[in-house]
Amino acid sequence: AKGSDKGTWQRYRPELHTEMVQRLETRAALYEAIDDDQLRVMYQPIVDLPTGAIVAVEALVRWQHPTRGLLGPYHFIEVAEESGAIVPIGGWVLREALGQLAAWKAAEPEMTLRYVSVNVSARQFRTPGFVDQVRQAITEAGAKPEWLLLEITESLLLRDADQVANDLHTLRALGVRIAIDDFGTGYSSLSYLRQMPVDVLKVDKSFIDDILGSEQQRALVDAIVTLARNLDLAVVAEGIEDAGQRAALVEMDCPYGQGYHFSKPVWPDEIPPLAHDAQTL
Ligand code: C2E
Ligand code: CA
Ligand code: CA
Ligand code: CA
Repeated sequence: AKGSDKGTWQRYRPELHTEMVQRLETRAALYEAIDDDQLRVMYQPIVDLPTGAIVAVEALVRWQHPTRGLLGPYHFIEVAEESGAIVPIGGWVLREALGQLAAWKAAEPEMTLRYVSVNVSARQFRTPGFVDQVRQAITEAGAKPEWLLLEITESLLLRDADQVANDLHTLRALGVRIAIDDFGTGYSSLSYLRQMPVDVLKVDKSFIDDILGSEQQRALVDAIVTLARNLDLAVVAEGIEDAGQRAALVEMDCPYGQGYHFSKPVWPDEIPPLAHDAQTL
């Protein structure tokens, strides 16, 4: 067809075509991936910043693709959101992560791990029955609600705020806690922090990146940490890559952190050796 209609195809770019075909293929293959057990979860430690002890892990989905190898979310999350596949995928990650934490705790009662952090896309959260799905996942895993932190983004709070607030309150009443992921990158008004039952702010990596190089960035992070403390919220700094960044965050009394400086996301069997009382990162 290329060239048969100059008006349409003049700006044909093969890489765009390839990308489109790949998206269509990805969409079909994603549903297969769920049925065929091709999804995996990696876990990244979240540490107590002063001591380096692991207090939690974040569950991060991967796709063990039959021909393309191990794929990170960058390769499929957008398509999963558009196609709706994120709903069953997110449900699977939730059950898997809770089951994994229950298994770790059963095998190692002395473990310092307190909870698992699970990402929830806006589309998944808005699916009718989501709260029941969470409740059921906790029961089936033999887990406690306190073991679960759900990471949502600010954009979820923009639309149907009343309904969202209702569901968040129901989750909170169960004992499940809520974090705002990528805090500072989305919605510009902070008023929702008064209305929404939020427990944790996760400061986006983009703020941490230049914390040593820029006085302004440092002041911003310091302000977020202070805001959180005054609102009685916990703070996790994301994307900490070196000791200098950690030291700067400890100095501003930021309680928790996550990043390659401590550990990249790892497979489930690599977590227990890291999460003993004496073990720090
Ligand atoms: P996120 O929730 O902001 O997760 C943090 C991402 O930053 C992860 O990438 C993690 O591997 C990466 N990261 C952590 N520390 C560092 C660091 O020090 N340096 C650098 N350069 N990167 C770091 P990942 O696993 O590729 O996930 C990307 C995004 O995909 C996540 O961003 C999240 O938005 C989404 N995602 C992952 N799993 C799920 C899931 O189960 N459900 C949904 N809805 N989204 C997910
Ligand atoms: Ca996250
Ligand atoms: Ca994040
Ligand atoms: Ca992010």
